[in-house]
Amino acid sequence: ILNFMIKKADSGCNNSVITSITPIQHCEILTSLQSQSFDGHLSLQDNEYAAKDFGNIHHFPPLAVLHPKTVSDISRTIKHVFEKGSNSEMKVAARGHGHSLQGQAQAHQGLVIKMESLKGPEMKIQTGEFPYVDVSGGELWINILRETLDYGLAPKSWTDYLHLTVGGTLSNAGISGQAFKHGPQINNVFQLEVVTGKGEVVTCSENQNADLFHSVLGGLGQFGIITRARISLEPAPKMVKWIRVLYSDFSTFTRDQEYLISLKDTFDYIEGFVIINRTGILNSWRLSFDPKDPLQASQFSSDGKTFYCLEMAKYFKPDEAEVMNQGVDQLLSKLSYIQPTLFLSEVSYVEFLDRVHVSEMKLRAKGLWDVHHPWLNLLIPRSEIHDFAKQVFGNILKDTSNGPILIYPVNQTRWNSKTSLVTPEEDVFYLVAFLTSAIPFSSGENSLEYILNQNRRILDFCSHAKLNVKQYLAHYTTQEEWQTHFGSKWGAFVERKRAYDPLALLAPGHRIFQKEG
Ligand code: FAD
Repeated sequence: ILNFMIKKADSGCNNSVITSITPIQHCEILTSLQSQSFDGHLSLQDNEYAAKDFGNIHHFPPLAVLHPKTVSDISRTIKHVFEKGSNSEMKVAARGHGHSLQGQAQAHQGLVIKMESLKGPEMKIQTGEFPYVDVSGGELWINILRETLDYGLAPKSWTDYLHLTVGGTLSNAGISGQAFKHGPQINNVFQLEVVTGKGEVVTCSENQNADLFHSVLGGLGQFGIITRARISLEPAPKMVKWIRVLYSDFSTFTRDQEYLISLKDTFDYIEGFVIINRTGILNSWRLSFDPKDPLQASQFSSDGKTFYCLEMAKYFKPDEAEVMNQGVDQLLSKLSYIQPTLFLSEVSYVEFLDRVHVSEMKLRAKGLWDVHHPWLNLLIPRSEIHDFAKQVFGNILKDTSNGPILIYPVNQTRWNSKTSLVTPEEDVFYLVAFLTSAIPFSSGENSLEYILNQNRRILDFCSHAKLNVKQYLAHYTTQEEWQTHFGSKWGAFVERKRAYDPLALLAPGHRIFQKEG
């Protein structure tokens, strides 16, 4: 009780936003932070948004939000909280675009740093043999795409949705249909600038402070705040041939996916998804796909069955269309999809990469974007994907799914194993993403409770069947579970935490080093 005070006590921490019981040390820290001069500013009011995220399930309000303009705003703030000593429980969370699913970018009664406010460095593009772009950790990938295209260049590895920040995706991995070839986004970074949990500003890369570099990539924000990233680029295509084909047999579907990712000369993007009684807008994230030949589509009835859709893309420049088409025909001739289900489309590179944004606008218009998103993302070894599919698609989700289910293999051999990301220990593993939505105040299959229960059944099955599955964008509530998640990497993870964030100030929303409760 001694450690707490009630709102409006006379410590100076008497702002109207502080509506509940607030630890006295937090108030002291905030009061002294308020007296600092920042290039940006510290806000104690109207911070409700920082207690929200895309998942819309956890809501932990902070006491204050820092809107940094410069790196020194961030380092000064963290140094200040760090120096106030180990008896403070005040935590600090960087917030990118707030598209976490389980409160990972939130700091209950702590301090949130709004990374999108960080101005600079100005995006700087280096052309030449190994082109790159220097960007702020708070930059959105869509802006990087637009800027680099002016130079005929673009990043190599993406996420399916581009309205996410560099710091946010590099803290996880950044996985999409290019990851089989280039690895995830964390594989395509040359250098980072990081503010550690002690407030130090450190530049790191494979050759300089390499341990910090590897720690931060996929490090769930635990070791430092990414303020700048140097991202590897490649020549950008102008156009994309976007292709979908359907399968009714899971083994044939995965065999073709694995065949395609094993080839040297193959598609530039390979994903896939499961179609379970597909109806309704919530299931149709990829509405932007507009095949040239809708006649074929209408001839094919898929009612009442589970189908598997293989999605591929080939990049090209308009004057290379003929050669590209020949290459695509050759690749398709090797596949065993259901013949009348070949859907082809040609779109610009930007349209292709920004495809989920089109769906976002449609869902927003129907009030279906800001709903609950109890997403579940799993990484599953190739040797276990058939057992998984049999039980999950054949039993648990036999009749319905509340959103798209992505499924595609990647080549681990092309991924950097030194980062903090944990994956199954097989050369090929699958990303399976249940991108579900629950409608507020609904009951039955559309309710949050129903979907959470379904997720639990999937996880329980994996655990009982002893599948070596890893969660991606993982959510756990106890340190024991995190320890199991990291497996043999746990010891190194703890050592790195001690080295770079010894007071465990950073990224409390993951609940890895915080007291449970
Ligand atoms: P936030 O939610 O703001 O933050 C995420 C975590 O990173 C928090 O722990 C936060 O503290 C930390 N963090 C934020 N900024 C920094 C920083 N500068 N330095 C250090 N730590 C920081 N992921 C994929 O891999 N592939 C996909 O295809 C994909 N598609 C998605 C589609 C949608 C519609 C959504 C909502 C999410 C998708 N994701 C995907 C997940 C997404 O990559 C993560 O949720 C990501 O963290 C979101 O980025 P953000 O900028 O919103 O980060």
